[in-house]
Amino acid sequence: MNNVHIPSKREPHIDTEGWLTNATRLPSPNFEARPGDAVPTLIVVHNISLPPDDFTTNAIADFFLNRLDHDAHPYFDHLRGMRVSAHFVIRRDGCVEQFVSCDERAWHAGVSSFCGRERCNDFSIGIELEGSDRMPFEDAQYQALVTLARIIVQRYPIDAIAGHSDIAPGRKTDPGPHFDWPRLRHDSALPPSFFPFQSNI
Ligand SMILES: [Zn+2]
Repeated sequence: MNNVHIPSKREPHIDTEGWLTNATRLPSPNFEARPGDAVPTLIVVHNISLPPDDFTTNAIADFFLNRLDHDAHPYFDHLRGMRVSAHFVIRRDGCVEQFVSCDERAWHAGVSSFCGRERCNDFSIGIELEGSDRMPFEDAQYQALVTLARIIVQRYPIDAIAGHSDIAPGRKTDPGPHFDWPRLRHDSALPPSFFPFQSNI
């Protein structure tokens, strides 16, 4: 079966430089080239909110752009000096922000391992959902994530989607207990093999 989908000019897609055409572009300096001939084969799903559980600020973007006001909130103090990024952030209303080209290596996963392969940042695309481990995500976020995942899969040789907690167990807990993996799997219509950590759904 031929699954190749050629997007029309107006349909959102990832351009030749690795940027999603309909995302808000907020280029972060926190990236580097992927090593050697590494290409993205994995999508990593995260959650983040700054301060935790507060969805009213632009602090995630400020953090990824190295312009966070560390004195603005007590929680921000320990983030001082950290240089972090993800390729995408999906806000609570489903708006998609992009910080790093998908062709480059963003700094979202840290020490990590997927199926015995270390350094997941080398070969993954990181998607942060604005959220927390303590509350459900929004319908608009699932819709945006499904659309984004399908666009990425059309463009790159992705063969798996994992949570940060799957690739950094014991160290990371996101996207957390409220993230609805069966919903992502169902709505994305991607095969079960894309979800190696969800074999029982
Ligand atoms: Zn994470």
